[in-house]
Amino acid sequence: MIPGVRLVVLGKQGAGKGTQCVRLSHHYVVPHVSTGDMLRGEVKSKTPFGVRAQSMMDQGELLPDDLVMEMVGGRLAERDARGRGFVLDGCPRTTAQAKGLEEIVHPFGLDLVINLEIDTSLVMKRLASRRVCVDCGANYSTAAPPMVNWTCDVCGGEVVQREDDTEEAIERRLDLYEAETAPLIAWYSERDLLVPVNGTGSPDAVTRRVVGAIDTRRQIPRSLS
Ligand SMILES: [Zn+2]
Repeated sequence: MIPGVRLVVLGKQGAGKGTQCVRLSHHYVVPHVSTGDMLRGEVKSKTPFGVRAQSMMDQGELLPDDLVMEMVGGRLAERDARGRGFVLDGCPRTTAQAKGLEEIVHPFGLDLVINLEIDTSLVMKRLASRRVCVDCGANYSTAAPPMVNWTCDVCGGEVVQREDDTEEAIERRLDLYEAETAPLIAWYSERDLLVPVNGTGSPDAVTRRVVGAIDTRRQIPRSLS
């Protein structure tokens, strides 16, 4: 039996983070806890939390750390995550959130923080070809479109290029991401939790690298995993 994992995955937009998180959650049989997905769900079903979050985002505000941690903490307290662990995607984004997460996962802690690294030029190419379902957020690209006419394979919604996927906007977001995550990288390095993984290549190759990094770190003989 493969042991579970308590994992945080960092990576800039276009680094393939979402794809890898889904694969890792299957491999380790743990939930993929994505703050983006959770938030979309709350907004869509108009929960009190979702309504509050939506109005903040409408005003162009970032969600405050305590609100994000409340949502994440609630999810990580559920049975599946407590039992086998989780792949956390989209959180933490600040050191305040990293501290909050430390409290949430106490006393078990995290196994590892994976930082998916990829060249900016490659990211630009990926993001410029990206297409997204307006309803469920499923990702496609000009190289891998939905089966029928830019209609989402998952939910039947319309698949479009996001307005903010222009080269200029992408560059601005990547700069912001670097600035935002630099303190996080330092925070997890100091705690000896951070492992950089090369995010270039096929999804299979990247998954193999990440799984290899996790297994090596846990010193589990390959024959058992
Ligand atoms: Zn969809």
